[in-house]
Amino acid sequence: MSAQIRILLDGEPHPLPLDDLAWERLAPCGCTVGTMVAFTADQSVAHRAFVQNADARKRDATLGFQLRLAERHGVIDRMKGRCPHVPVWGVDRAPIPPGHRWARAQGGRRIHLVPVPDTEGERTFLLHAKPLCGRKRELFQYPWGDQPECATCEERAREIAQAVAS
Ligand SMILES: [Zn+2]
Ligand SMILES: [Zn+2]
Repeated sequence: MSAQIRILLDGEPHPLPLDDLAWERLAPCGCTVGTMVAFTADQSVAHRAFVQNADARKRDATLGFQLRLAERHGVIDRMKGRCPHVPVWGVDRAPIPPGHRWARAQGGRRIHLVPVPDTEGERTFLLHAKPLCGRKRELFQYPWGDQPECATCEERAREIAQAVAS
């Protein structure tokens, strides 16, 4: 048995089984950044499944990311497109300084920009580093989960990019 719910498609309410729907994650620019099966009709449950980290969910909302239920086929088509916007996804991300990488201190609630030796390449790593924001030197890991970025590291990264540009 599949649940019947009513959603607005083209301005008209249509009863559709959840099987025909998908959760669509929209970036602030309006492009589709993600999709997930409609295992629930509850938006907050879906958001928790998309983004497990509570701080990251709050930041999502502040930046203007949205979730909506839509017909599955349409969502899949929209997923194929590239975001043509500047900045990409409508989010002005801090440029990552050369030789740095976002990484998470073990058990940390934020990710920080840490200097990474060339030899680390694209691999997973675990290394002692001091992040750009000046926090204490500790063990960092990459990749991270879905923790949001440290605002101070972002600020330092923007300062570095400006200094290089001028
Ligand atoms: Zn876009
Ligand atoms: Zn930091």
